[in-house]
Amino acid sequence: SKVRIYSLAKDLGVDNNKMLEILDGLGVSYKSVSSTIEEDTVDLIREILAAEAAEAAPASAQAPAAPMAPAQAETQAAPTPVSTATATAEREPAAAPEVPHRAPVVTIMGHVDHGKTSLLDYIRKTKVAAKEAGGITQHVGAFEAQTSKGRIVFIDTPGHEAFTTIRARGANVADIAIIVIAADDSLMPQTREAIAHAQAAKVPMIVAINKVDLPQADADRVKTDLTQLNLVPEEYGGDLVVVPVSAKTGEGVEDLLEYISLTAELEDLRADPKGPFSGVIIESRVDRQAGVLATVMVQEGTLHVGDFLVVGENYGKIKAMTDSGGGRIKEAGPSTPVQILGFSEAPSSGEQVASAKNEHAAREVIAQRASNRRDVENARIQRKKTLEEMMGPLGETRTVNLILRADTQGSLEAIQGILARKETDEVKINVLLAGIGSPTEGDVLLASTAEATILCFSVTAAGGVKKMAETKGIDLKSFRIIYEMIDEVDRLLRGTIEPVF
Ligand code: GDP
Repeated sequence: SKVRIYSLAKDLGVDNNKMLEILDGLGVSYKSVSSTIEEDTVDLIREILAAEAAEAAPASAQAPAAPMAPAQAETQAAPTPVSTATATAEREPAAAPEVPHRAPVVTIMGHVDHGKTSLLDYIRKTKVAAKEAGGITQHVGAFEAQTSKGRIVFIDTPGHEAFTTIRARGANVADIAIIVIAADDSLMPQTREAIAHAQAAKVPMIVAINKVDLPQADADRVKTDLTQLNLVPEEYGGDLVVVPVSAKTGEGVEDLLEYISLTAELEDLRADPKGPFSGVIIESRVDRQAGVLATVMVQEGTLHVGDFLVVGENYGKIKAMTDSGGGRIKEAGPSTPVQILGFSEAPSSGEQVASAKNEHAAREVIAQRASNRRDVENARIQRKKTLEEMMGPLGETRTVNLILRADTQGSLEAIQGILARKETDEVKINVLLAGIGSPTEGDVLLASTAEATILCFSVTAAGGVKKMAETKGIDLKSFRIIYEMIDEVDRLLRGTIEPVF
């Protein structure tokens, strides 16, 4: 039977906007929260929420790392349990009293054109100490602002894409999210998305009502609109901090910085500079002359020039480090973004970084990770073979082998949930691999050994991977809407599409 969106939201204990966000993600159309949705969709939503709840649980409880061949480090990687465990440690409130405070890491999100870039630019212009003349600062993905209340680190890629990619790999980099809302436009679709992302990550929010210099600015309307989302500004008796600002005139920006420091204080952010190192890749690029330049956010411990770092199945030795202002540095402690020269492969944003005592230790960690990955792959192929041996003689059972790729753990689990119910006595579905991120050449190899089809949801394959699939005759398809992907699976199950080999 059909269910109204708002009553489902109430039943499941989530707000209406969260529900609409999920429906948007599924590609389900609706008119309003009073619209009805199908029972199938209701099941899907339950699974997504359950998966999200599981995702919010300790990182060590996450799915095993997806396989990654060293050559594809830039296209996909899931965190290995080894490094995630250390990265989450710093968010634990029960820090020993001697562990010092660290600077907050802030991300700015909001609707397009509401002024995210302008606000970042204003803060950078006024709060970042100018380097000597001629020192043109490169964009490294983050910068450090010096305020009267201390250091604040800003993630320099506005919008929730950066936030989502990093979080999709199980890392939480931002401590505080600034939601920018233009006073002349109020809440827009991406504002809701940004709020949903911050809420899902349980990152405290501060709302900056921007463009208050405009004559048509209406800050009160923004506040009222926020109230409709159950986000009640302090002055209306709630606990949401709302700061009117203008990225153009600078009005209110000082207050905003002060509120950031206050929120950071309440969060009691601490990290031990003397503890074991852990960090996260913010971004990386390949410079024609210098080689791979990766920005790492130090979360715990201290990095030194000469240290060995391990990312996924790659390692590197730090040849040189620069701070976000472009100055050469020898070491970097917690909450410091540093650009590192020394990796041979460009790591992807969100990947966890660990350190190793020396080159030998780094190689050992990598060998162990590669062997774990192969074990997982082999076990899947083995299981598939055993299944065939078991089912084969019984007669008509067919197995459809799939490799699944999706943008988030939530959609991945939702898809698997639906697939599980599609199996019949005649046709079995064998998911060889379910991973977050774009499909890799490793996936294509796996698909060709196991005769599998690669289905991608909300991620696409890089050109090289696509070409390789074509050459090997592997079916590789991308979908933006879950139902279309399921339709494809139905076709595969009916056998109307025979894989081409
Ligand atoms: P983003 O897409 O959120 O990064 O928005 P931008 O920073 O690119 O700003 C979009 C437009 O709004 C630009 O034309 C800015 O000059 C303008 N803008 C941003 N902040 C302010 C502000 O505080 N006051 C006024 N009047 N215009 C602003």
